[in-house]
Amino acid sequence: MARRRQLYEGKAKILFEGPEPGTLVQYFKDDATAFNAQKKGTITGKGVLNNRISEFLMTKLAEINIPTHFIRRLNMREQLIKEVEIIPVEVVVRNVAAGSLSSRLGIPEGTRLPRSIIEYYYKNDQLNDPMVAEEHITAFGWATPPDMDDIVHLTLRINDFLTGLFLGVGITLVDFKVEFGRLYENEDMRIVLADEISPDNCRLWDAKTNEKMDKDRFRRDLGKIEEAYQEVARRLGILPEAGSRDLKGPEMMQ
Ligand code: C5P
Repeated sequence: MARRRQLYEGKAKILFEGPEPGTLVQYFKDDATAFNAQKKGTITGKGVLNNRISEFLMTKLAEINIPTHFIRRLNMREQLIKEVEIIPVEVVVRNVAAGSLSSRLGIPEGTRLPRSIIEYYYKNDQLNDPMVAEEHITAFGWATPPDMDDIVHLTLRINDFLTGLFLGVGITLVDFKVEFGRLYENEDMRIVLADEISPDNCRLWDAKTNEKMDKDRFRRDLGKIEEAYQEVARRLGILPEAGSRDLKGPEMMQ
């Protein structure tokens, strides 16, 4: 089979042209970056686990009628997705204070927030993804007011659903980041969930011990990073039987 054309390489994923018009192949790398790529490393098997975890979560979200770009997983590291026009805004939802909210506002990590808070960041590496208000997003045309209504509505539903799903397996969903895209079908345009949902872009704490089970283990040099990602997959019931090794040959399809 001819090698697919690479369209984009990000910090943790590569996008290839898909087999049919309107589709893409999303490839999950083991590369890890933090602090806008000032810190770089590799987490062995991360791509395999994130491919699985994101597939699982997007499939569950689709079951409650959240529209997503996900079509199906192709192999250990690749999934087929719908091509969307990415809205250049990172949407962060917080349930418990941590990370930049704690450092910016001086609220101790672990403080439960009185209600879930949504924040927006403009996707721009050169500017370090600055925080923006809905006013900026609509004034500069990154999304329209109706797009934002959809985004807020979808984000709150995603948060409610994932909070319950993770709690069911003994994990607190502290915060997470999602991205949305515009999907054009015939004359219609729909806002759909895009990118990935994985321990790379969620804060997941063990519900009993508050032990971190996410990329903060890499950001803060806490060690046992692969084990933490594996434990998230294991609790969700989706750890590949052979572990996270990128198996070669016929064993590859799980
Ligand atoms: O760093 P901060 O506290 O703002 O991160 C909030 C949430 O958004 C965390 O779960 C983090 O993993 C995620 N995030 C992300 N990509 C970024 C910034 C934050 O996935 N560029």
